[in-house]
This record gives sequence, structure tokens and C-alpha cells, in this order.
Amino acid sequence: MKQLVALSLALIIPYQTFLYAWGEHSLGTYPALRIDEELSKAKKVKVESLESFLLSEEDSLISFLDEKDKLYSAQFPSYPLLPTELKLMKGNSKAEIKKKFLMAIRINPNFKTLSYIQTLPGENFPNCRKLKAEKVTIFKDNSFWDEVNFCELNLGQSVHPIDIIATASDEPDYGIDIGLFEDNESDYGKIYGFGQQSYGNPALEFSSQTPFHIGYYYENFIMFGLAGYLKKNYPHFRAQQFLDLAKFAFSKGHDYWGYRFLGWGLHYVQDLTQPYHSTVSPNASTASLMWVNLKSGLGFETSMKQTITLLSNRHLVIEDIQRHSLTFLTKKKEITHPYLLAFQNTKIDSTYPKFDASYVVSVVAKESNSKAKILDKAIVEAVPEKFVDDPTHSYDSHNGNENVYDYLIREDPKSLELLSPSLIDLFQSFGSHSRNFVKAGIEPKKK
Ligand SMILES: [Zn+2]
Repeated sequence: MKQLVALSLALIIPYQTFLYAWGEHSLGTYPALRIDEELSKAKKVKVESLESFLLSEEDSLISFLDEKDKLYSAQFPSYPLLPTELKLMKGNSKAEIKKKFLMAIRINPNFKTLSYIQTLPGENFPNCRKLKAEKVTIFKDNSFWDEVNFCELNLGQSVHPIDIIATASDEPDYGIDIGLFEDNESDYGKIYGFGQQSYGNPALEFSSQTPFHIGYYYENFIMFGLAGYLKKNYPHFRAQQFLDLAKFAFSKGHDYWGYRFLGWGLHYVQDLTQPYHSTVSPNASTASLMWVNLKSGLGFETSMKQTITLLSNRHLVIEDIQRHSLTFLTKKKEITHPYLLAFQNTKIDSTYPKFDASYVVSVVAKESNSKAKILDKAIVEAVPEKFVDDPTHSYDSHNGNENVYDYLIREDPKSLELLSPSLIDLFQSFGSHSRNFVKAGIEPKKK
């Protein structure tokens, strides 16, 4: 019985594929950080290549990574110690050091680290040399980023910290965590030590990043008891790892990489502010899930498929409404629209505890998980049934066939108003947690 339920629970998450949490994190990061006076007045810094940073700090980086490896192992129960053969060693050449480093921090060794700025829709970057998305992501199909503006930076060029952080806050969705498990289609996944992928579909490229971008910390004991693998997740670790790397880079005077690592870490904090990224199933109770699972185990799979479809559809619908509405409002420079103002609401920043190593789980994920049911209910009430309450229909905007936002603007603008309180609430949290995380990263810099 236990195995039957656990096996079935394992099916829920794999079918949620191609989900980003928030589409284009920079849309929220820019307004969240630009409102902060200190950050917006920060001095520009010079672009440096990753290789240059690594070669000049190789010795101290080796001991830093060793020390953090031990610390993470004590701090995060899901964290496996770094296999000895992956440890960064002295004496690397310029040609090999980047790959050795990416493998020592266990991200995709093929990840691209070109320097560029991702501008906001409707904004220009001076003398922009446009880059195609294929130069910054590891994916073959980059149509999702067709409308996004990437401007390449020269080494030594001066660039504002907010531009670096906001750009970097979208990067982890460009391939950083693809293929890291032993059952993924990659050589490095076999030696990274993360074992089998705990959830998400290991056979689908994009889905292999799921346990790094979705984190369950607040499921009930029945759920965790039956499906303990849900605890094998890593967003909290990644946020801490990149925060530590940012502090290390700042302490050695490599500010460009300090800000860029900070942006990478910020992505995982922001992902967890999305309730579908912190909650297994806001739309079904544990009891009903168990019933659905039981039926599925006995061969009646329709209810299981329907539960998964509804969960996936609502997740995608909220992500699409967020991305398209923010793109539209930003392009139109509607700076006083409540959505854009929500990211800039600094009043609630200090209502959260001071940032520490437990913040990502005990504050961000906890809050987001507590909002999951309310959000799910609001989506069902606001958005027409065919998108969010019809289990026979799989909503998929990534193939370009459907766009819920366009439909609502055209046919049912009232529904967007109904959804607004929930979105505003989530955008406020996104903004506050972003500022609190970024400040924790730059705090030691000021001393
Ligand atoms: Zn993500």
C-alpha cells in the first residue's frame, strides 16, 4: 500500500513539465531593486570574464569551496558531499578552469557565461550589440525568448550592479541545473553525486532542473512519510551557495562576479515565492490525492491524469498572466500600475526577520506555501473554466497555440481584475524578498 501510494505520488510532479515559476525574472527584479536608493546609486563595475576571476583567486577559492562543502553537508540534509574527483585543484590553465569550477560547484559544465544585459521591454541599452538567445541558453529551441533583448558586454566595460543582478536573476532558467542527476542524459550527472532525480521527469531535458527550482518544505507528515523523496530538493542550497560565492567574489574585489552570483542565487529565492513551486498540490487535499493514487494504482488512471492536468494548467496560467501582463505594462511604461508598484513596496521588507541561512525556507517558502490554496482558488474563480478547471484540456502556451492573457484581455478583462489581489500580494513578496536577499549579499561589502 505504502509503495503504491508513493509510486503514484511520484507521478504528480513529472507531468508538470516546462514550468518556469515566473516567466522572465528580470521583469520583477528591475523594479524591485531600482526603488532602493542605495542600490540605484551604487557605482558601476567593470565586466570581468569568469576565467579571469577564477585564475586570480584559484588558491583561496579551493579552500573556500572545501570549507563550504562541509558546511552545506551539515546544513542541508539533501546535500551530498562533493565527490573527491570533482574538487577544484591548483594549477588549472585558462582553457580548463571554467569547466573545472562549474563541475566543482556542480552546475551544468556547458553553461554559457558570456557577459550581457537583459533589458526590460521597451528600454534601450546604449550601443546594444544584440545577442541571440542561443548564445546565452543551452537549449536548441529558444523561441520562448524571441521577444527578449540581450545586449552583449565587452570585457572591461562599466555596467550598473542592478543591470547585472536583474539579468543574472533569469539565468538559472537558461540551463544551469540541466542534467545533474544520474538518470538524466548527461555524463556529468553520473558523477555529480545527486543520485536519481527525486521528482520532475528525468527523461525530459528541461524537467531535469525541477528539484533545484521547486522545493517542498511544508507538506504534511503523511505526504512526507509516503513520499520522502520530496525532501530531496535543492533551491535553498543553491540560493545559499551563490550568495556565498557572491560574498567571496566581493571580498576579493571582483565586484562584477559578486553581483552576477548574487543574481543567480536570487533566482531560487524568487522561484520559491511562486506557490506552485513550494506546494505539491494546492488543488487537492492529501486524502483526495491518496484516493486518486489508489485508483491509479489499481489501473483507473483517469482521475490521476485529471489531477495532474489541472495542477499543471493552473501553474502555467498564472505564469503566463504574470509574464505577459508585466511585459505589456513595462513596455507601455505604466509605472504606477499596481502590479509594478507592488514590486516596489519597501514598507513590508522590515516586517520579515533579518536574512540568515534559514530565511529561504522558514520565511520565503513558508509564506508562499501558506498562499497556495488561496491562489489556486482565486485562479479557478477568475479564469474561465476551459483554461483552469477542465481536466480534459491540457493548456500549453509554450507551443504558441494558446495564450490565456491575450484571451482574457480580449474576451474577459474582468477576470484579470479578480486575480489582481493575489498577483499584487505575490509581487510584493517577490520584491521584498529580493531586496532582503540582495542586501544580505552586499552587506559585508560596506564594512
Ligand atoms: Zn527557475
